[in-house]
Amino acid sequence: MKKLMLLTICVAILSVIMPASAQTNKYLLKIIPQPVECNLSPSYYVPFTQLTIYTDDTEAVAWAEKHLAQWYKKEAPKVFQKSYTGKSTKSGAYSININSNGVVICAKELEGVRYALYSLRQIAIPERNTLKVEGWIVPVGAINDYPTMKFRGMHICWFPETEEFEIERMIRMAAYYKLNYVVLEPWGTYRSKVAPWLNWDEAPITKKSIKRLVAIAKELGVTIIPQLNIFGHASQSRSRSAKHSAIDQRPCYQPLFEPMAGWNWCLSNPKAKEVIEAVMVEMLEDFGNPEFFHIGCDEAQQPSCPECLKQPYSKLFVEHIKFAHDVLAKHGARAMMWQDMLLEKGDKRWTDYKANGTAETAKAAEEMPKDIVICDWHYRAGRKDYPSYSYFKELGYDLLACPWKNVSGIVAEARAIENIGAFGMLGTIWHHYYGYDIASIYTNIAGATWNPSANFAQHNGFNLFKTHQRHISWDMKLKKYYQFGIQNYQIPDNKATYK
Ligand SMILES: [Zn+2]
Repeated sequence: MKKLMLLTICVAILSVIMPASAQTNKYLLKIIPQPVECNLSPSYYVPFTQLTIYTDDTEAVAWAEKHLAQWYKKEAPKVFQKSYTGKSTKSGAYSININSNGVVICAKELEGVRYALYSLRQIAIPERNTLKVEGWIVPVGAINDYPTMKFRGMHICWFPETEEFEIERMIRMAAYYKLNYVVLEPWGTYRSKVAPWLNWDEAPITKKSIKRLVAIAKELGVTIIPQLNIFGHASQSRSRSAKHSAIDQRPCYQPLFEPMAGWNWCLSNPKAKEVIEAVMVEMLEDFGNPEFFHIGCDEAQQPSCPECLKQPYSKLFVEHIKFAHDVLAKHGARAMMWQDMLLEKGDKRWTDYKANGTAETAKAAEEMPKDIVICDWHYRAGRKDYPSYSYFKELGYDLLACPWKNVSGIVAEARAIENIGAFGMLGTIWHHYYGYDIASIYTNIAGATWNPSANFAQHNGFNLFKTHQRHISWDMKLKKYYQFGIQNYQIPDNKATYK
């Protein structure tokens, strides 16, 4: 009742102070992802000096105090706790009411309190007319919000060229945009103890780095999922680079890989399975035993070794997937894999699709364990329909839509995957983690996974992202010129096209 009264007062105030046309103010600080219901004044701000949290989760109150102190220093609002009075049963749901009496948030658990605070941080600005920050103000209004998709993820690549602060920044941005999973794919950069020869000598990802990043992510509401490509992409390098993280530096390990470029693991070699199992188990432990593990499996080639050619490749492929699935299941994790080898190239159902399979590998879709999560990637403009979604769903799989940077594709895939009630979405960045692309991918994946039916692609995403990433750079206490902004250097040199 109290909440309803607050909302009514807010709406009454807003109707007096805010003409309808003002709400279209393009300079209004918007929230990413766009909340389900949001009515904020573009010009009427009140001091953010106290925050009342209606929740029964004391851990959530401690989390709020800790993070508000970190964000706002000595100007942090004072926090008061009251018993939860909300009715929403949706995981992650929260509401915010702001008026001249102060700021009130209502959320049953830590997850919702965290999301409420992320929204508040995006709309709070320093008091005006001072030289330095002396306090914070927030716009009068109300927000009622909850996530739509259960799995809201971003796939992040750690190349040898990538620095740890860049990975941390992307993880923190994922959390700030209310994503709850990050798949972290090392590109020959994971410093394995059981198979150190598998990765580049310069591999930067130490156990200490991983444990630090996993802890930061968990604190912010994100689970990090490790990835190891167990089929194609065994070179752990971009195809066009012609590099191979294992056999360029150590040719003695060639039998583990197909003779043709070493692109595929040799599926008939039991020693390859031993290595894959040992590294997967090691990674699971380093990543804090998450509930998922990504096994890659995209863009594999046909076999070129006599042993793999002796038998149907589909049989070897299915056995290999089952082997990885069982290893992971034994450690409490579900396998995730890309879909393209499970769709036959040339099959008319998948016209204009990423279908890289043969009739042989496509058979695996029917024979694999159905608790594998299929990551269905399409990087083109939005289509009217996505027949592979219903194909995999009818076979019994949980399914994630995985777009890249095409915005119409992100919008169409989000709505299509939501329409069939699938698991969620996993955005991808690949090597485009600078400039407009990173801003567009993050803002649009956030909107697509949180509130896919909204007009999220209409946001002024670039300016918002710049502001939000600056918040993250403050949290990380970054100091150096090249660590700020969305380009490391304003004038790229020949060594770093994207940096
Ligand atoms: Zn082979």
